[in-house]
Amino acid sequence: MTLKSSAIVAATLLGLALAYYLECAIWPWGKCSRCDGTPGKNMSPAGKHWRPCRRCGGTGKQLRVGRRVWNFIQRRRQAGQ
Ligand SMILES: [Zn+2]
Repeated sequence: MTLKSSAIVAATLLGLALAYYLECAIWPWGKCSRCDGTPGKNMSPAGKHWRPCRRCGGTGKQLRVGRRVWNFIQRRRQAGQ
């Protein structure tokens, strides 16, 4: 791999990371990985009763990893002022 092609790869990865970061800033929530965004999935064997998912507390949503990074940076920035 030449220096030029590795620079292109690095720039592409940086661009993708930035796009992901911005996307997480705009759309912070993802589907809960445990209940797949449907908290009513934890059904009883009878199929009539359910309990909220323990991971998301029944909301069906989960904060995305990129948004956690975003929040961390925002908090540090506020602490610095
Ligand atoms: Zn859940």
